[in-house]
Order: sequence, then C-alpha cells, then structure tokens
Amino acid sequence: MKPAPFEYHRPTSLAETFDLLGRYGDEGRILAGGQSLVPALNLRLATPRAVIDINRLPGLDGIRATSEGLTIGALVRQEALERSPLVRENAPLVAAAVRHVGHTAIRARGTIGGSLALADPAAELPACMVALEATIRVAGREGRREIAAADFFRGIYTTALAPGEIVIEVLLPRAPAGWRWGFDELARRHGDFALAGLAAGLSVAGGASAARLVFLGVGIGPVRARRAEAALAGRTVSAETLATAAHALDGDLDPPGDIHGSPALRRHLARVLLARVVGRLAEARA
Ligand SMILES: Cc1cc2nc3c(=O)[nH]c(=O)nc-3n(C[C@H](O)[C@H](O)[C@H](O)COP(=O)(O)OP(=O)(O)OC[C@H]3O[C@@H](n4cnc5c(N)ncnc54)[C@H](O)[C@@H]3O)c2cc1C
Repeated sequence: MKPAPFEYHRPTSLAETFDLLGRYGDEGRILAGGQSLVPALNLRLATPRAVIDINRLPGLDGIRATSEGLTIGALVRQEALERSPLVRENAPLVAAAVRHVGHTAIRARGTIGGSLALADPAAELPACMVALEATIRVAGREGRREIAAADFFRGIYTTALAPGEIVIEVLLPRAPAGWRWGFDELARRHGDFALAGLAAGLSVAGGASAARLVFLGVGIGPVRARRAEAALAGRTVSAETLATAAHALDGDLDPPGDIHGSPALRRHLARVLLARVVGRLAEARA
C-alpha cells in the first residue's frame, strides 16, 4: 500500500519545528527514523496532513559524557548507541538492550527519541530509561522542561509530551559505584517485539543486595517491580531469594493477554527472566 497524500516539511531549527507543530496541531506528525511512522503511513494507520521531518535539526545527534551523566540527543540512531564506547562505558544497560531492537537495518535508522516518544509497551529503551532513572528533556514553543522517565511513559503509545512538544535529549545520571546492569528478553523470533523483557541493575555491598527491576512487554508501559526489588533488598542473592523475588513479582505485574501470549505465559516468562538476569549479575560479582 501507499500512504495517503501528506505535506512534507523539513525544518532546520526548533523554532520552525514548533511553528509547524502549532500550525498543524493533531494533524502534524514528527518523522525521526521513520521505522514505526512510515509503516503506519503505508498501512494508512496514520493519515496526517503533514509530516514534519526533524532529521535536519542541528545538535540532536550527539552523545556526550558530562559532569551530570551521559546525554544522548533524540536523533541518535539505535545503531550508534550499540557502537558507542561512551554508551558501553557509561550506560552498559543501554548498549546491551539496544541490540534487541528489531534488526540492524531498523536500528540504522531508528532513533532513541522516536522509541521513547512512541512508547511501545514492549520496547527496550523505555524500560532502560526507567531502570536508569533517566530524565527526558523535551521542548516546545513555551520552552524546555525535564520529565523523569518514571513519569514520562503514561500508557500504551502514550507519554507526558504535551501537544507541540518534542523529545530533544535524555540524561542518564551517573550510576552509583558498584552497580552492574543486565538485560534480556524473550521473543518468539530474534528481532520480534519481546513477549517479556527485563532491564535490571544489581548492587552487592558486603553481601547485601539492592536491585532495580524494570520489565517490558508485561504491562501498559515499563513496569518497575518494587515488590520483587524489596524481596532482594539487603539479602544475599541465592536460589532461595530469587524464588522469593519471583513469587513477589505476582504482586507487581498484571500482564495483558493477546494473540502472542496469555497473561499466565507472560508472568512465567517474567519469573524466568528475573532468575536469569539477576542470577547472572550476582555471579558476575563473585
Ligand atoms: C520490523 C520492525 C521491528 C521492530 N522491532 C522493534 C523492537 O524489537 N523494539 C523496539 O523498541 N522497536 C522496534 N521497532 C520500532 C523501531 O525501533 C523504531 O525505530 C522506533 O520505535 C521509533 O523510532 P523512529 O526514530 O523510527 O521513530 P519514527 O518512526 O520516526 O516515529 C515514531 C513516533 O514517534 C514520534 N517521534 C519521533 N521522534 C520524536 C521526537 N524526537 N519527539 C517527539 N515525537 C517523536 C513520531 O511522530 C511517531 O509518532 C521495530 C520496527 C520494525 C519495522
């Protein structure tokens, strides 16, 4: 199929972008990597009056290590995240997770900003942002604001972006020393969206652990599993504590069922991932 006709704009400044967003309102759509928007246009699931291509906006494609942490521009391609030594060193969770996004050709075009703005509940990068307690920096005609990742993802394909705002960059704060990060997911085929995935951090100081556990594919957005985290807190990671944490997950997760998997299957996969990822992180410290 071919898309319905639309006007195409390629602004070269944020001011011009905000003018266009103001002019078209709900009928204007931002185009970044196009890996989700273009299929939606082609299938006529999206029929905007105007497509506003932000690829020529300056200054949104950099990765920088600063005193605050790591900043990543909205137009940084997923493949660049995968290859960046700065990301590997400062945000190993992101480097590990992004390899699971689609296939190489998709990652070569898809952007971090597009992935966050789309807010697919099965997407890897939103879960990483919540696990790393990232800040999402957004801008609109009224100015700029910062939104904690935990508050940014509001539901299926729904974010805290106000009309006329775009994501401009993310800030990943420096992780406290001693934390290790791991990611894994379970999908029917490599490159498919995950049935369930886990972005996890573990710190073990003097045998007492602290964990951050954020699941994807098992809710309406990234789900931080606070009860499972509490079950691990202050304890040594062992088969027994992992089993207790896996049990506690039942109170954290209320997964949806769809043609890809039932709620029971997703709960089971989440428990498997918890034992697998946290077990690996604990062993890596030994
Ligand atoms: C076969 C296939 C498999 C895929 N598998 C996965 C997967 O496993 N995991 C995964 O996470 N994704 C997957 N994707 C989606 C892909 O990663 C997209 O790149 C990503 O979801 C959107 O990024 P994009 O830059 O391509 O955004 P686009 O497609 O350009 O835009 C997506 C949406 O976000 C909006 N948008 C884009 N950038 C901004 C911004 N800076 N500010 C505000 N709004 C913005 C657009 O208006 C649009 O609504 C897959 C895609 C395909 C085609």
